[in-house]
Amino acid sequence: MPGILPQPGIMDIALYVGGTSSIEGVSDVVKLSSNENPFGCSDAVKVAYGKAGHGLHRYPSTDHAGLRAAIAEVHGLDGERIICGVGSDEVLQFVTMAYAGVGDEVIYTEHGFSMYPILAKMVGAKGVVVPERERMVDVDAILAACTQKTKIVFIANPGNPTGTMLPPEEVARLADGLPDGAILVHDGAYTEFVAGADGGAALVEARENVIMTRTFSKIYGLGGLRIGWGYAPKEIIDVLNRVRQPFNLSTVQLEVGEAAVRDQAWVEKCRADNTRLRTWLRDALAEHGVDSDPSSANFILARFADQAEAEACDEYLKTQGLIVRRVAGYGLPNCLRITVGDEPGCRRVAHAIGQFKAGAR
Ligand SMILES: *Cc1c(COP(=O)(O)O)cnc(C)c1O
Repeated sequence: MPGILPQPGIMDIALYVGGTSSIEGVSDVVKLSSNENPFGCSDAVKVAYGKAGHGLHRYPSTDHAGLRAAIAEVHGLDGERIICGVGSDEVLQFVTMAYAGVGDEVIYTEHGFSMYPILAKMVGAKGVVVPERERMVDVDAILAACTQKTKIVFIANPGNPTGTMLPPEEVARLADGLPDGAILVHDGAYTEFVAGADGGAALVEARENVIMTRTFSKIYGLGGLRIGWGYAPKEIIDVLNRVRQPFNLSTVQLEVGEAAVRDQAWVEKCRADNTRLRTWLRDALAEHGVDSDPSSANFILARFADQAEAEACDEYLKTQGLIVRRVAGYGLPNCLRITVGDEPGCRRVAHAIGQFKAGAR
C-alpha cells in the first residue's frame, strides 16, 4: 500500500500466542498452560455476573468509583491512587504509552513476562534485556543497565514463568537505585498466592517512582472477564487517566470485580489449595527426577535435561490430554511451565511425567 506505514517498532511485534486449550482427537483435556484458577470464580461472583445483565443498556461509570472504593477498602489503600484497566495488561499499556517513546529505553529481564517487549515496541522505545541470576531477577544487573534514557523498568514479582520472588528489601533497593525520570513497574499478577504479600503497596506509599499492578485474572478466576488495576502516586495516576478510554471497563466488569474483591474468603481458600497442591506437585516431579525452583505462584517451572527432552515430554503429555506451556520463547528452552491444577489435574500430570521419565513416548 503506497506510503501507508505503521509507526516505528510495530512491525517488530510478533503476534502473541496464548496457551492452547484443546488437543485434536483428545477429550477430557486438562489445561495447565495459562495459569488459570482450576476452581473458577466464587459463587458470589457468579451471582453478581447474573445481576449485572439487567443494566446492560446503561453506560458504565467512567471513574470506576465503586470498584476503586472496594479495592481500597479491602487492601487498605487510597482509592484516589487506583486506576482500573482491561486486565492488568491495559494498565501496563497505559504506563508505557504515557512514559516511553522513540529514543527511550525500557528495561525487562531475560525471562520476563512477554508483554513487556511487546509494549516497548508498541511505542517505538528500545527494549533492554537484562540477564537474571539462576532464574531470579538480579537487581544489580538492572541497576547497571540503567541510563539517562531509562524510562520504565518492568519486573513481575513473583515472576512469570519463573515463579521466583524477590524479597521486599531487594525491590526497595531497585526502586531507590533508579535514575531520575525512571518508573519501576512492580507487576503483582501472582501476589495473592503469597500469604501476607502486599504486591508492592508499601513501596508505592513510600516513594514517587513505583507503580504496582494487580489482576483479577489469576487467583480470582476471572481471566475471561479482563479486569486489572494499578496503584501509584497521584501524579502518575492523573497522567494514566488521560490515556485511558473513558468507558474502558463495562458495567459487568465493574460490578463483578467489586463482588470478587469483597469475597476474600474465596481468595484465602484458593491460596491454601494452591500452596498445598503446588508443594505436592513439586515433590512428585522431583521424585521423577524433574527439578523446579521453589515457586511463589500458581505454576511450577519444570526443568528437563535439555530442549529435546522438554519438547518430547510436552508431546507425550499432549497424548495424555495434558496441556502445559513451552517457554523457549522466554529463554527457557529446557523447561515447561505447568499450572497448578485441582487435585486430579495435579495427579494426572505428575503420573504422566513419571511415565515419560520411565521411558514412555
Ligand atoms: C497473567 C499476567 C498478567 C496480566 O494479566 P491480565 O489478565 O491482563 O490482568 C500480567 N503480568 C503477568 C506477569 C502475568 O502472568
